[in-house]
Amino acid sequence: MSSTEPSIFTRIVAREIPADIVFENDRIIAFRDIAPKAPVHLLVVPKTPDYSNVGELAAGNPQLLAEVVAVSGDLAREHSNGEFRLVFNTGESAGQTIFHVHAHVLGGALDEGSLGQ
Ligand code: AMP
Repeated sequence: MSSTEPSIFTRIVAREIPADIVFENDRIIAFRDIAPKAPVHLLVVPKTPDYSNVGELAAGNPQLLAEVVAVSGDLAREHSNGEFRLVFNTGESAGQTIFHVHAHVLGGALDEGSLGQ
């Protein structure tokens, strides 16, 4: 996909692709990961396509990053026991496949010995 094409997540925001949406406001959308790696696996996504990873978001809009973290905590309380792992893959070799910043919220029974998903 070229960088001028909308990401899958932008297409979910535009309702061009279906998703199991669990939260939405003017700035953020959250939905279930299509290939869950944990009993609870949600993606929390800023709607803006301006940031491809968490470092760019931190530099460009730290308030929005803080809101992503706050929404992640709220969703972990709503969908699990409030304890969760927050993962931002950054770069292809780290497993990032969609270059539209997103947080993985992983909850439920996790393997405490692994940092992976
Ligand atoms: P990453 O590998 O960090 O870029 O994460 C991308 C995530 O998006 C993966 O965990 C995928 O399973 C998930 N994903 C891809 N397409 C969809 C979709 N249409 N709906 C929900 N999750 C998706």
